[in-house]
Amino acid sequence: MFPNHPPFYFLHSFCIFSLRCCMAASLVFRLHDRGPEVVREVLLERGWKEYNERKCEKEDWNLYWRGSAFRNSEYYDLLPWQRLNHHPKTVGITRKDCLARNLRRMRATFGSSLYDFSPTAFILPNDYTRFLAEYNKLRQARGPSVYWICKPVDLSRGRGIFIFEDIKDLVYDCSVIVQRYISNPLLISGYKFDLRIYVCVKSFHPLTVYVHQEGLVRFATEKYNLSSLHNTYAHLTNTSINKFGPFYKTEKGRVGQGCKWTMSKFRHYLHSQDINQLLMWQRISNIVTLTLLTIAPSVPSCPNCVELFGFDILLDVKFKPWLLEVNYSPALTLDCQADITVKKGLISDLIDLMNYTLTDSLRERAFYRQGSRQPCFHASHMSHVTPVLSKVKETKFHSGDQSSQTQTLPQLKTVCQAERINRRRRPFIDDYQRHLPPVDLNQLTAARGKIINTTATETHTDKTLNLILGPHSRTNMSVVDRQTCPALPTKLMDNASLRVSEVTNHDDTETEAGTELSRQTNVSSSIHEIPQRRVGFRRSSGSWKLPNIYSGNHRPVRIPLEGTTAVNGHNIPPLRVGGFIRTFPFNTATLKASQQKLDVKLIIQELHKLTGQLATSDQKLRREEEEEEVKRNKDGEEDFDSLLWGPKDPPLLSQCSKHT
Ligand code: ADP
Repeated sequence: MFPNHPPFYFLHSFCIFSLRCCMAASLVFRLHDRGPEVVREVLLERGWKEYNERKCEKEDWNLYWRGSAFRNSEYYDLLPWQRLNHHPKTVGITRKDCLARNLRRMRATFGSSLYDFSPTAFILPNDYTRFLAEYNKLRQARGPSVYWICKPVDLSRGRGIFIFEDIKDLVYDCSVIVQRYISNPLLISGYKFDLRIYVCVKSFHPLTVYVHQEGLVRFATEKYNLSSLHNTYAHLTNTSINKFGPFYKTEKGRVGQGCKWTMSKFRHYLHSQDINQLLMWQRISNIVTLTLLTIAPSVPSCPNCVELFGFDILLDVKFKPWLLEVNYSPALTLDCQADITVKKGLISDLIDLMNYTLTDSLRERAFYRQGSRQPCFHASHMSHVTPVLSKVKETKFHSGDQSSQTQTLPQLKTVCQAERINRRRRPFIDDYQRHLPPVDLNQLTAARGKIINTTATETHTDKTLNLILGPHSRTNMSVVDRQTCPALPTKLMDNASLRVSEVTNHDDTETEAGTELSRQTNVSSSIHEIPQRRVGFRRSSGSWKLPNIYSGNHRPVRIPLEGTTAVNGHNIPPLRVGGFIRTFPFNTATLKASQQKLDVKLIIQELHKLTGQLATSDQKLRREEEEEEVKRNKDGEEDFDSLLWGPKDPPLLSQCSKHT
């Protein structure tokens, strides 16, 4: 009775209407299995709403976050306003044995001096004979003691790991990898540590990589000692182990209490030690790129996905970085203040990187409304989906074709569902692109003191550049580089077993996972075969004049805006988004090399050059490179710059090479 009374009826309807409008104007997230709390917290703070399956439409969400892999159908069913937090098929680097195998392959193709950042690894039982041969060879050489670490391939968080010197101690009952143990790690007050680096792959096609400025340093909680190989608190840096150690809460020299530092604190430490860090950071960035190159060509294109990887890096006593493992779902638990500082900012910046627009918040409603007003269909926009479907359709409807009768029920169901989605999406996708708001260049100059590059990456459809100013955004701006429809090749759609077969380094309960090392060589033998005298990390000679970014009067480098024009038709992804620094592509050549078919060889050559610029004092080489740059500009190629990832106020790469 009460709701039917006219004034109350209108009020009631108005409230429901307002609520609906409000919901429609908010972005909506879905967390699988209650998801990481920090993701919920950050999104709610930014004004997002949580998906409620009882109240919301099935497709009424913008971000689906899960720790484990998505099903193929979830990629295929993605709608233009939706994003997933995983790309398909990244298991090639996130499972210990796959990573070892892939790095071995790259070493064979591109040379062991380039891919020397991961310790020699053997996958047992298959590689047992090879391991035995290597073990015996090293024993007979009678050099310094050699240690090995054995890790189950499908476990994480340090479970099942042990270190050994004598082969008689190698006992295993499952698939394991045995690696050279980096026995000379860099120590702080006698404690071993490793670095957790957060890497966001914004897109695999074209490859677009951002590395976050913040990260974690994870310490062992007992002093490093090679005479007690069984002491996990001294040899493993997993937080999941050390937070239960007897000395977790004890003051441990410079390390302090607990077992974590932020990356900022580590930078500060390095600075206090008068260590020149620039080359070290660049080497870590190279490791990230070179590792991603092992799988990039085989990952299907899925423009609405991002991936946040956790790279675990160990520094040895010579500051050479070693890749320990790549985590598929880096832990997002908040155990201590360092976690809170790092992870909240990280997630917020990741959301900024996802380029949500106001149109995304309208979801299906806006699409239907606009679609019915201005139906507009260009089949070419779906060209990457259509061929797959039409192929199946031909098989299905060819009269008298035996194969059509032999199709299984699930196959038919897939065909029907795909057709339904395809038909429904077409009008909206075009419209969606067209109705994205235009860029206001004035707003791109700076937000909260941060200067951001404003060009967007090329899209398969429109090259519309868009901007959203979210009230809760840390960067307060982002640039849309949308490719509206996920393109999954036939082979992915056919691969129904993808999800179940991926046993990866899930670290979401505070783990690490790893696969790495090879030769414990001097840094000089890495990427560049740089002569020994040039690679010391201490500022010892005048030839090492990289920008003195830590001197007291240092002012942050002003990052010029890149023009909104593209380089030879290719748009450039933003230089940085919050704490995320674009590390790939880093110049015109790598931009071009990643546009169509990934030119891995060329990219590797450019990495060589870049690291050479940072490491060398060779005047001749620098002059040649400068001349090359001048020539490029004369040829009409607009160049673009990148930032050096790592230092607190990252300098431009071009400045680094000019100052060397
Ligand atoms: P998990 O996935 O179980 O965390 P990791 O490969 O990350 O496995 O190894 C756990 C820890 O063991 C690392 O954080 C690191 O401290 C140590 N560790 C792993 N591999 C090596 C190695 N080759 N040399 C030295 N320490 C290693």
